[in-house]
Amino acid sequence: MKGVNRDMSEKSLLEKYRPHIISNLSEMIRIRSVEGPPENGKPFGEGVHQALSLALETSSELGFRTVNRDGMIGYAEYGSGKEMIAVLGHLDVVPEGKGWKYPPFGAEIHEGRMYGRGTTDDKGPTIAALWALKILADEDHRLSRRIRIIFGTNEESGFRGIRWYAANEETPIAGFTPDIHEGIVHAEKGGLHVKLDIPVEDQGKIFLDSFKAGEAVNIVPDMCEAVFRGDGPELQKWADSLGKAVGSLPLGGEVSLDGTSLVVNAIGRAAHASLPEKGENAIACLCRLLGDNPPSGSSFNAFRILSELLGDPRFGRDLGINMSDEVSGALTCNPGLASFEKGLLSVTLDIRHPVTIPGDLVITRIRERVEPLGIECTETSRAKPLHVPKDSPLIKDLSEAFHEVTGKYPEIKAIGGGTYAKALPNVVAFAPFPAGLPDLAHQADEYIDIEELISSVLIIKAAMIRLAR
Ligand SMILES: [Zn+2]
Repeated sequence: MKGVNRDMSEKSLLEKYRPHIISNLSEMIRIRSVEGPPENGKPFGEGVHQALSLALETSSELGFRTVNRDGMIGYAEYGSGKEMIAVLGHLDVVPEGKGWKYPPFGAEIHEGRMYGRGTTDDKGPTIAALWALKILADEDHRLSRRIRIIFGTNEESGFRGIRWYAANEETPIAGFTPDIHEGIVHAEKGGLHVKLDIPVEDQGKIFLDSFKAGEAVNIVPDMCEAVFRGDGPELQKWADSLGKAVGSLPLGGEVSLDGTSLVVNAIGRAAHASLPEKGENAIACLCRLLGDNPPSGSSFNAFRILSELLGDPRFGRDLGINMSDEVSGALTCNPGLASFEKGLLSVTLDIRHPVTIPGDLVITRIRERVEPLGIECTETSRAKPLHVPKDSPLIKDLSEAFHEVTGKYPEIKAIGGGTYAKALPNVVAFAPFPAGLPDLAHQADEYIDIEELISSVLIIKAAMIRLAR
């Protein structure tokens, strides 16, 4: 009987708070919390400041202790105990972009969906966590740990807020970030950005003028363009042979000669760097085309070498880094950016390596392969892998909490992408949505299904109770 009563009160509390949850989220969506120029006490600009202030005001009205660290980060806390568990959300958003059917900061509701930037990533789940904590507090559970909701401020553009938290504030004993659309992520590959610099020698009558591709290293580039200048007749001869060869590229390209300027491009298909097999890498395509078809009488060695190293870059085979493990699968490699400056052709790789393979080993292997070829290799950034065993108490608790509310178990998976969970120890990404959400993060017409939002409150509450008891 006790269980039934508790269940009834949980449902009736949820019904009572439903309008508040929706209006609270609408208010939050109407704030354009994209990172802006810093001001005093507002390190991420006015929009992020407003969103953080609103979250903390609401938390305080609901009876929670609140802390604001000069706008770097804030949190709300409930309960007592020496140890603390955390829900890690974020209130900043990426810019709205183009192509919206409904106003991106309007929070309009159509056919049971609330539309707006941040509805799923990550204001909706963060507001749901706040109301989960409210219902939990109303029910007055006996728990042995404190529960803290951390309001992230700079997830989308650098993790600076949460890094500050990690360095200066209490580490949770366990926690989750409701910042993925389905399942539980128990393993996230390690991330490396590596820049390769290769000198391009002058070819007598033809020289390279520019080479460019990519806007972000974590996207498979869908276009790569090289411009050559030099002797007209020589360029004409080369343009003819390239023109014949360009058709053999998977998605083709274009060769156009205008007097003494030859433009060659290869077309690719964009995809996320962690899933390179879904895309077609335009840098690789263009290097193959130029490496296999040098101008007569000379060869652009740089393109031949790059074509040998990056001809099929997806799993790093020709770089000697095609490694995999059982937990997280194969290493992936995406040449995401390319440029040519002062005689040096630079290609930056986005590498995601398996969780049991150290990043240092990957770097060593690349160096061993490329340095003898005259290529300089620089590591420009690194993110450690995350691995929490599937049978750990944290994963089990989250999985059981999901099952308790929905009657089914969530998928427990490994991914190549990095989530907010990497920023704090003992935290994993967990989607508290019964049906899962469509993956609309960073896209036009981002929305959250109102029923999924409301149901997520009880799943988050169940997870909080299991972790805090
Ligand atoms: Zn997010």
